Amino acid sequence: MPETLSEPPSQPQSQVEGGLPKYECWFCDTEWEGFSALLAHMETGKCVMRNKIHDLAFESPEYGFYGNRRTDKFAFFCFECKVQFTQISGLFYHVERTAACSYLLQDDQCLGCLRDFYIEYYDCPGTDSMGY
Ligand SMILES: [Zn+2]
Ligand SMILES: [Zn+2]
Repeated sequence: MPETLSEPPSQPQSQVEGGLPKYECWFCDTEWEGFSALLAHMETGKCVMRNKIHDLAFESPEYGFYGNRRTDKFAFFCFECKVQFTQISGLFYHVERTAACSYLLQDDQCLGCLRDFYIEYYDCPGTDSMGY
């Protein structure tokens, strides 16, 4: 298979050393350090509907690994250390900064999958009835 150079590079993998990867908001022209910061920005409801980020977290097939129930006060927990969180951004913030739990952000782990789930969902904004 020939390499396609127009493909964007996959996400930066360095999570702790050299700072967190940067993410741009899909809807406004802002850049955030760490996925948690982007999620916290989205949770304010400026760029997407207020509960959308929260609700989407429960639509990922992995949600049993980090979610309690959508309506619980503490709807999320860390799979590794079982700390509870009210917001998904809080959980991401925790694992981004806790060495023992940061492996959950790897591509094949629950929060890595959730991050990809959000990215895929919002990569095509406005195409809720997408044709592929
Ligand atoms: Zn925004
Ligand atoms: Zn933890």
